[in-house]
This record gives sequence, C-alpha cells and structure tokens, in this order.
Amino acid sequence: MVKIIEDKKFSELTTFKVGGPIKYYAEAKSEEDVKEVADFAKEKNLPIFVIGGGSDILVSDKLFDGVVVHYTGDSVSLEESGEFSLITSEAGKNWDDLVEFAVAKNLGGIECLSGIPGTVGAAPIQNIGAYGQELKDTFVSLRAFEIEKGKFRTFYPEDCDFGYRESIFKNPEYWQKFIITSVSLNLKKNADPQVVYESLINYMKENNVHDVNLRNVRDAVLAVRKSKFEDPKEVGNAGSFFKNPVIEKVQAEKLIKEYPGISCRETKDGRYKCFAGWFIEKAGWKGKTHKNAGVSPRHALVLINPEGKATATEIVELSEKVAKDVEAKFGVTLTPEVQFINF
Ligand SMILES: Cc1cc2nc3c(=O)[nH]c(=O)nc-3n(C[C@H](O)[C@H](O)[C@H](O)COP(=O)(O)OP(=O)(O)OC[C@H]3O[C@@H](n4cnc5c(N)ncnc54)[C@H](O)[C@@H]3O)c2cc1C
Repeated sequence: MVKIIEDKKFSELTTFKVGGPIKYYAEAKSEEDVKEVADFAKEKNLPIFVIGGGSDILVSDKLFDGVVVHYTGDSVSLEESGEFSLITSEAGKNWDDLVEFAVAKNLGGIECLSGIPGTVGAAPIQNIGAYGQELKDTFVSLRAFEIEKGKFRTFYPEDCDFGYRESIFKNPEYWQKFIITSVSLNLKKNADPQVVYESLINYMKENNVHDVNLRNVRDAVLAVRKSKFEDPKEVGNAGSFFKNPVIEKVQAEKLIKEYPGISCRETKDGRYKCFAGWFIEKAGWKGKTHKNAGVSPRHALVLINPEGKATATEIVELSEKVAKDVEAKFGVTLTPEVQFINF
C-alpha cells in the first residue's frame, strides 16, 4: 500500500524552497505503486503532478488541489552491446549518481552532464544539457505510465521531439499525462571524451590536466559548475532561470557591432544563440533584489531566494522585471527555462 500524506508543502520539495501546500503527496517505489497512486487520483477526480528533485520548477504559493507523486525506484542495469553498453535506470535515481556510475565503468556520453541536480526521470523532460552534451545524444528509450489510459508505454527518440531544453512532455497535450519510471541510454565503452566548451578547456589548461579522460572531464565539469552556480543546499534557486535566447542573424550582427563583448554563437541553422546572463548583467540586474527575491551576484542567469523568505509571486515579479528591462534595452525576449506550476 502506498502511503498518502496530507501535510506536505512544495517549499519542502523544491530547490527554490518556495511553493504552497499540497492536498495529497505520495512516493511510489515501483510500477505497481504508480498504478495505485493513479487510481487514487482518479477516484478523487484530482490532477496529478509528477515531481523529481524539484530543481527545475517554480510553484505558486497557493494550495495544489491534486496529488503530487514522486517516483523513488532507483535501480540500474547494464546490457553489453559491442562497443556500447545500454544503461537502464529507474526514474528515481539521482542524475549525478548515474553519471558517476557511468564514468566509474568508463562509459562515455553523459560525463559533461555531471553535477546537474535532479532525477533520471526528469532528464528527458527538458532534454538536459551542458558543456556541449544533451540527454538526447545518448537517449534510447523511456518507459512511462500513461495516466489517462492506465497503461505503460515506451517512447523512442522519434516520439520525444527533443530540442533545446524541450521535449514532447512539455507540450500541453502531454504535460503531466505520463509518469516516467525508467530511462535507457546508449553509452560508449572506453570513450574518448570531446571537450568543446571554452570554460572546460581553460579549466583543464590552468590546472595542468593533460589527460582528457572521462574522470578528468567529470571532475573539471564539477569544479567549473561549483565556481559558477549557486548551491541549492545553501541558497534557494533552480539553476538558469531563462533559456539562452536564439535570435536572427541580422539582429545578432547588429548587437555584436554595438556590444563587442556580447556572448553569441552561431547555431547550425544560421541563427545565433546568445548567453542570457550577459543581457541580464548589462541590464544592471546582477546581484540586485526585488522584495525577498534576487538575481545571483555570481551568475546573472540564476534567480535566487537569498534568505529563504521569498514567495513564488515575488520571484515571478522579479523575473518579469528582468525580462522587461532586457527587452527594452536589447530588443531580446527572454523566456523562462524553469517551469511555472499551479499559477
Ligand atoms: C543549480 C542548478 C543547476 C542546473 N543546471 C542545469 C544544467 O546545466 N542543464 C540543465 O539542463 N538543467 C539544469 N538545471 C535544471 C534541473 O536540474 C534539470 O532540469 C533537472 O532535470 C530537473 O530534475 P528534477 O528531478 O529536479 O525535476 P523537477 O524539477 O522535479 O521536475 C521538472 C519537470 O520534470 C517532470 N518530472 C519529474 N520527474 C518526472 C517523472 N518521473 N515522470 C514524468 N515527469 C517528471 C516534472 O513534472 C516537471 O515538469 C539546474 C538546476 C539547478 C538548481
């Protein structure tokens, strides 16, 4: 029997440390449990929200009149297949623990995704990415429970519509309709990692790391991330609050001419992806606060809950002010990467 709890709050479950009370909360450790929770929600005629580590969501301060389910199963299996290994992890596993597991086995393909908070089950939702790697590069399939139909279903890459911080699971037709229970990745044995990001290359140079192996790349990523990101254990945040905007070539050329220090890179389709943090910093928001919410003094792309007193409304207000100023100064629209829940 799954235990259904009635006195949980989102503020206890999210890295932003904000969010209102939850009507019902349940932890499911198996696929049987998932079915049971879904039946419970159906009986009560309540919506389900699936939560992992709560590191990519901003939840409103009001009551969530539904059932929040957290999948906790975290076993991992490996299947050899020539030069590759198929790694299948249950959704409740901590993502970074899975990366460590792969690197310890000398399996390459996700080492640059070291240190990303959250669970394996959430990784496909926004196709997590960092330092030149994305989940989709190694993704084979996932298994998910379709809440409405009460059945399990397998999704392959062609079903997922992966893009930059996007997947089909963010599409309103699929949103909160599936509970992912496992994810399978194809990882290369004894892989030679490719280090393409300047900050990683620089870190390795500065620290005399000449042997570019999986372990060294993982360590470099963890060190660079530590120097850059706010640690949610110390300061409430959800990582990059906005996506890096992708703009047309004409606009990018104009901006580069006007602001030579701007950080924009040409993408495969000829448009330009620019670092959102640069715009926010140049708009004067780095380190600034609005009521109890703030922009990180270390990383302008990260909005923070500095003393744990911010409400979700205050964080939303801050994000709107930041986006409005960036739009007015540069004509660039910032869209949130963080998902807004129960607003
Ligand atoms: C300090 C910091 C740094 C970060 N750096 C990066 C980064 O470099 N790159 C990056 O891509 N992201 C980054 N993030 C964002 C975040 O870590 C990822 O998006 C992560 O995948 C979220 O995992 P989670 O388990 O916390 O998901 P949650 O925040 O709990 O949920 C996110 C979404 O996934 C859904 N979901 C969760 N579990 C399941 C499941 N089992 N089945 C179905 N749906 C599910 C939720 O409903 C929600 O829509 C960062 C966050 C922080 C706080």
